Amino acid sequence: MEQLLHDRDRVGVQDAVLLENYTSEEAFVDNLNKRFNENVIYTYIGPVLISVNPYRDLNIYGPKTVKEYDNKHFFEVPPHIFAVTDTAYRSLREENREQCILISGESGSGKTEASKKVLHYIAEVTDHRGDVEKVKDKLLFSNPILEAFGNAKTNRNDNSSRFGKYMDIQFNFEGNPVGGNILNYLLEKSRVISQVPGERNFHIFYQLLTGADDALMDELNLKRNMSSYYYLSNGDKSNVAVIEDRKDFGEVRKAMSTLEFTEREQSDMFSIISAILHLGNVGFSEEEGVSTILKPDIVDIVAKLLNVNAEDLKLALKQKTIETIRDVVTSPLNRELSIYARDALAKAIYDRLFTWLVKRINSSLQPETERKNVVMGILDIYGFEIFERNSFEQLCINYCNEKLQQLFIDLTLKSEQNEYEKEGIEWEHIEFFDNTIICDLIEKKHECLISFMDEECLRPGEPSDITLLAKLNTKLSYHPHYISHQKADVKLQKIMGRDEFRLIHYAGAVTYNVKTFIEKNNDLLFRDLREVMVNSDNSIIKSVFLESEQKSKKRPETAITQFKTSVNNLMNILRDKEPSYIRCIKPNDSKRAAYFDSHLVTNQVTYLGLMENLRVRRAGFAYRRTYEQFLKRYKCLSKDTWPNYNGNAKDGVEALVRSLAYGDKEYQMGKTKIFIRHPKTLFSTEDAFQL
Ligand code: ATP
Ligand code: MG
Repeated sequence: MEQLLHDRDRVGVQDAVLLENYTSEEAFVDNLNKRFNENVIYTYIGPVLISVNPYRDLNIYGPKTVKEYDNKHFFEVPPHIFAVTDTAYRSLREENREQCILISGESGSGKTEASKKVLHYIAEVTDHRGDVEKVKDKLLFSNPILEAFGNAKTNRNDNSSRFGKYMDIQFNFEGNPVGGNILNYLLEKSRVISQVPGERNFHIFYQLLTGADDALMDELNLKRNMSSYYYLSNGDKSNVAVIEDRKDFGEVRKAMSTLEFTEREQSDMFSIISAILHLGNVGFSEEEGVSTILKPDIVDIVAKLLNVNAEDLKLALKQKTIETIRDVVTSPLNRELSIYARDALAKAIYDRLFTWLVKRINSSLQPETERKNVVMGILDIYGFEIFERNSFEQLCINYCNEKLQQLFIDLTLKSEQNEYEKEGIEWEHIEFFDNTIICDLIEKKHECLISFMDEECLRPGEPSDITLLAKLNTKLSYHPHYISHQKADVKLQKIMGRDEFRLIHYAGAVTYNVKTFIEKNNDLLFRDLREVMVNSDNSIIKSVFLESEQKSKKRPETAITQFKTSVNNLMNILRDKEPSYIRCIKPNDSKRAAYFDSHLVTNQVTYLGLMENLRVRRAGFAYRRTYEQFLKRYKCLSKDTWPNYNGNAKDGVEALVRSLAYGDKEYQMGKTKIFIRHPKTLFSTEDAFQL
């Protein structure tokens, strides 16, 4: 026993509800730290899995581990992502309940790796028949393609996903994968045209330049030298040792053939990538406010690659046409606007190519039969972001996280309540922070941040970031979660700029700078360029521009309104599924193994709302087990049940608990389970038993 308690000191507890001092953030982080030092990266808060990125291969995902978790009860095995996946999968298979695995955490915390582990586990424990295997290959191979086009090296993560992803795996009645579907969110398209020092453009650009054979390079008019391309020139030029672009390109090509991309599709895609690289090299000069193209032959190359008319493209880079109620007016662009138009085109093309790619992958993942399938969704989406300077993108991301938190509250509290009801346990109301008030501030009908932003963006005249801020301040300052510069106290005013506003999110206060809000929200691509693209003979370009042309005929939707629609659709998809939560934590900022920075982890614990999560879990009955499991584990603690007991499990548990002189208020007997309020006071050795 002493040894066990000693181990507990060393390895910590596997479920944070067992912590003596469960309200202390320090104790919580310390527990994670102890485990991390012992290479134990997984810990629970009840059913929620916390995962700390080890930044090294721990050899804990191999076939032996899969076997250890396959078809085991959640509580019989140590915390692991396989345990969570297995539980979800069993519930899907045995009870026909749709599942979703929600993975959150900041950049570099291990979300994408976690999502791959989930998929890997499913692939391992399902049938290995030829047809099933083929579907699984397609599901697995969708990853390298999406990562090539949607991931990039950033200062936080060498393989950072620059888009949000929700993937459905569809299962047939036998519990075998038969197909899938992917939804993508908010690609960081500004990366196509520029990157901050130390970061790179999307992987595919480098992969193509290092991996394509000479024939393809010629066909695409490309040189191997990265610094020849302006769009690659301001980021990290070093060839990052950890990224093997050449090898990855081979993987991407292989994945494309597994997903049955045609030769034509692949060549159209690479032409587009090359066209973007060349487009970045198109320069302009200006005479009397009118821009001219410096090297028109580069535009000829772009036009050829995009299969559009070169003269039309040149014209469209130099002028803009605006349709008013009465007539159509064409005016020349100055140099600055030509550059803006060029960059907007590059971003639009890449963004739409990515959306096309997701659709194309989906058509490949489409199940062969129309039968109704059961679904397990996996959400790998950006976590809450608080930077020194926060812009439009952070607002979108944090809004999405607010919605996910709202759903979390809804689903976890609701499921707690459901279980108490099902088991006939008296239910007490649990106090928690309901973030609906913040969601409403951002998105509710006509009186919210989004609607005021749209109003200002779409207003005739000359809306600017400053007029936008003035409007927000006037309309929203009354709100307790909105702080304008004027409303801020003296101390805050010192750190808040006049072009900033602040929102008090559930995870903390964030100051947003309104600069570029209007531009990003309007997301304007001049009509002239759109028309050139619609007439392209590159089938991808033509289809993606035609599609958005048809959409925008109705009413141009702003970027944030489109995002709002897709976030709310996502919430509806998730709402009727049984959720499993994986909260990822990054141990340090330097991508280093075996280094746990407590301060950094504490911040993440706050942003992920883990202490609140723990509090809510503890406020009810923190511990519950079926009578059979409970008896099996603890029967040795009482002579009423040990060494011999032959009665039914519920009576056995009753006798066991009574003989331990446990207080009436401390536990309740449900229909199939015992519920214990504070497990720590019942069996101090509980966790030691589970080590
Ligand atoms: P982003 O939001 O930037 O996409 P992320 O949360 O998806 O970040 P990952 O790309 O999954 O982060 O992880 C970053 C890196 O950390 C991985 O490339 C890998 O090197 C390492 N890593 C993550 N999880 C694990 C793990 N379970 N075991 C070993 N290494 C890991
Ligand atoms: Mg990722």
